[in-house]
Amino acid sequence: MNYRHAYHAGNFADVVKHIILMRIVLYLQRKDQAFRVIDTHAGIGRYDLQGIEAGKTNEWQSGVGRLLDAKVDAKVAELIQPYLDIVRAENADGTMRHYPGSPLIVRHLLRRQDRLSALELHPQDAELLADVFEGDIQVRVTKLDGWLALGAHLPPKEKRGLVLVDPPFEVGGEFDRLVDGLVRAHKRFSGGIFALWYPVKDRQEVRRFVTALQETGIPKILRAELMIRAPSAEPRLDGTGMIIVNPPYTLDDELRTILPALSKILSEGQNAGFTLDWIRGEQVAT
Ligand code: SAM
Repeated sequence: MNYRHAYHAGNFADVVKHIILMRIVLYLQRKDQAFRVIDTHAGIGRYDLQGIEAGKTNEWQSGVGRLLDAKVDAKVAELIQPYLDIVRAENADGTMRHYPGSPLIVRHLLRRQDRLSALELHPQDAELLADVFEGDIQVRVTKLDGWLALGAHLPPKEKRGLVLVDPPFEVGGEFDRLVDGLVRAHKRFSGGIFALWYPVKDRQEVRRFVTALQETGIPKILRAELMIRAPSAEPRLDGTGMIIVNPPYTLDDELRTILPALSKILSEGQNAGFTLDWIRGEQVAT
């Protein structure tokens, strides 16, 4: 396990992923009934943007850094504001020092009745994550293989909520594991919302992944992809993708507003853009 998210925290892929995450959790807040978020690959929770790892790549500057400085129209601003509020709350003195990872973003959005289960397998990262939530009775941090949570941990006792699966893609076969994991998880928690992150590096691999998802027969699957540049000759993170199963009915429209703005702000050259389509469901384009 060599992958360390600290090198990439706050980059363009985190921005897109975390804005989608925030919109889903805000939707879950619409009912009083408690919900649970299960974050299967949680990371360390809070990243030091002035630390050695982030300093080596400075990826956050062309991600969340750009968004913080950007001017967007009122509709977009309203939809992304809760995410920026969380980032600013983590940097109360006004200097960008901390970036909140997915479990911390979710924690900011929990009400008293809601819960977060955060899994992280890397021993040191799991310890750092546990420190972030020490004494917090609404958050359970477990050092465990996140793929296992897609079986035994489902359905959550709240019977409503979101499962975020955000693996590091450092070994081959992660796309297959995502599909297999989703199929297992959906059998146990068919009404749950699932958000699966994937990198857009090799477009052929992404096409195979989408076909495999279509073949699962799972009925409602929305895909959101944002590309920051045209395909590179060498494998490179040209874009970021999220598969959302059972998306809130509001999400499609919200992303149709948000993604064009993000693609302009986060663009690294020509042919930046986005894809938003139903790969399974009533609204699949014909
Ligand atoms: N979700 C985090 C966020 O958005 O802030 C970032 C997660 S990072 C992309 C992937 C994390 O998964 C890493 O911290 C890595 O140590 C962890 N990891 C790798 N394999 C795992 C596994 N089998 N189970 C749980 N965590 C794992």
